[in-house]
Amino acid sequence: MALNIIFLDIDGVLCLGRKMDKNCLQHLKTITDITSARIVLSSSWRFFPKSRAQIEASFKEIGINSLLGWTGSQGKTRVDEIYSWMKNFDNKTIEEDIIINKWIAIDDMDLYTLDKTRMQDHFVLTTLIQGITEETVKEAIRLLS
Ligand SMILES: [Mg+2]
Repeated sequence: MALNIIFLDIDGVLCLGRKMDKNCLQHLKTITDITSARIVLSSSWRFFPKSRAQIEASFKEIGINSLLGWTGSQGKTRVDEIYSWMKNFDNKTIEEDIIINKWIAIDDMDLYTLDKTRMQDHFVLTTLIQGITEETVKEAIRLLS
């Protein structure tokens, strides 16, 4: 199945000041509704079952049903982890038979500056204070269309 993928950070994207932000969640839902993108967690939240459960609960509450899996920990940077996931669809992925159509990462860490070559046209930066804004939504939809 050909999928659009969002590699999603949590802190500074959905979680502001230690709690999930409803506006940011709603904005993420708009992106996934319009682009049919599936979500792969790239946040350090992915390592903890309780944190993943918290994310899933927040998604469920707002009606996001797109969680596909999470990245592993191969490589030195988050960009390495994302590329490694795309290469391997490692065992952290819930479904099989996936072909990636378009993909982006949404993060408050500037992955584009970190690795311009590999993140060009694949990255939307958020801020720790605002998380996903309407601008983020527009840019994400543009890149996934
Ligand atoms: Mg972050």
